[in-house]
Amino acid sequence: MSVRTDAPAVADTVAAVRKIYDSGRTRPLAWRRDQLQALIRLLTEAEAELSAALRRDLGKNALESYLTEISIVRSEAGHALSRLGEWTRSRRVPVPLGLLPASARTEPQPLGVVLIIAPWNYPVQLLLAPLVGALAAGNAAVLKPSELAPATSRTLARLLPGYLDPEAVTVVEGGREESTALLAERFNHIFFTGGEQVGKVVLRAAAEHLTPVTLELGGKSPAVVMGGNLRAAARRLVYAKLLNAGQTCVAPDYVLTTEALAPSLVKQLARAVREMFGEDPAKSADFGRIVNEGHFDRLASYLADGTVASGGRTDREQLYIEPTVLTKVSPDAAVMQEEIFGPILPVLTVADLGEAMSFINSRPAPLAAYLYSSSDAEQRRFEHGIRAGSISHNASTIQLAVPELPFGGAGASGMGAYHGKHSFDTFSQLRPVFSKGTLLDTLRVAYPRYSAAKTRILRRLL
Ligand code: NAD
Repeated sequence: MSVRTDAPAVADTVAAVRKIYDSGRTRPLAWRRDQLQALIRLLTEAEAELSAALRRDLGKNALESYLTEISIVRSEAGHALSRLGEWTRSRRVPVPLGLLPASARTEPQPLGVVLIIAPWNYPVQLLLAPLVGALAAGNAAVLKPSELAPATSRTLARLLPGYLDPEAVTVVEGGREESTALLAERFNHIFFTGGEQVGKVVLRAAAEHLTPVTLELGGKSPAVVMGGNLRAAARRLVYAKLLNAGQTCVAPDYVLTTEALAPSLVKQLARAVREMFGEDPAKSADFGRIVNEGHFDRLASYLADGTVASGGRTDREQLYIEPTVLTKVSPDAAVMQEEIFGPILPVLTVADLGEAMSFINSRPAPLAAYLYSSSDAEQRRFEHGIRAGSISHNASTIQLAVPELPFGGAGASGMGAYHGKHSFDTFSQLRPVFSKGTLLDTLRVAYPRYSAAKTRILRRLL
């Protein structure tokens, strides 16, 4: 466990973790199982502490913390534990006739020492869910939680060494300075979740050591509403948008719908907010707060980018932004240029699905794209025509709770993916092993000196 975080201390920390990895300690399946079980124990025994930290950092309700942070990591760890034997098995592959007698197989190998950098919005889930994959694959890990969720960062840094192998899994707390010191070190993989700007910094730093990188970034995930049960659509959109007060990477960022549907959809959105959070969401214990003043000011400025159809109240002292639906928003307004990352939902109108798809495809590929429609034909058209990290029909954000679905971006929303087996694959090298006996030297037929007879044999064999 590191306490000092200046650059030489960071270098020492990484070197110490590498020494443990090089000793082979993290490779046996027994070690991996122990770590995953310990992680599950931590999440069970320290749930209240983690939940209190999340409440302090983000005003999260305990049930929301359980559903969107703790239970997701627990389910990832349980899934990995139950399938570890299957995932780590070596698999024989057929050998072409000309190379026989021989055998060939693939064997997933750990990558080494991996760095996991997490953001503040789901500070437990986004630090520990990648760690599940790293541990399952037999790696040692250095974890960098976000300084913008300080209570959670401190709690994790204190708790983790009591459960996991503290020499193989180390937490380095801090912000930009510590991240920069970490990124100067050589890792075997960097798994980064955060914004596009820092993503570029990470990719540049990784290039120095030719380190492979997974980037889980953000973007503006659109929701297109073309019909179906509008009441249910509004509830699902409001639920997904207002989780963590809108500070969710896969939250629906804005809505595109038709002129005909817009008025009733806007009404239903306001109604769904009232149903879930009451007439005054400021008084609801179920609605979170904005992480800091900087983000509050950015969000408050968006309220002037359209007509406030519902919501619109703010309280800077409480870092409170009321769930707000904005209409009459220009596609060029600031609220439509940046990832909103807060409880403000612009509703824009388009002529039809085709126009909605052109609108989405004219912008950087989002992390997720949502279609609300009961038409199979529209759903297929959307799937085939949209570039996005994931597609979900008639539901938003919950796709990431399916462990076997890869979770990741496309284009500007990121590279690589994880969850379930995909996490294991992300942190493994599928190493091929080829093996030939020594008794028969059958390969001689392919060695120089070449002749017409050898040519005939080889051309027939291969
Ligand atoms: P961020 O990019 O500001 O910070 C992420 C991490 O990088 C933090 O740990 C931070 O300390 C570190 N960092 C900051 N400056 C750095 C620098 N110069 N060099 C190296 N590291 C640095 O992101 P954030 O504000 O914490 O999180 C919000 C962003 O994350 C949003 O864009 C959101 O969409 C995205 N996000 C993506 C996912 C996903 O799974 N794809 C999930 C959550 C959040």
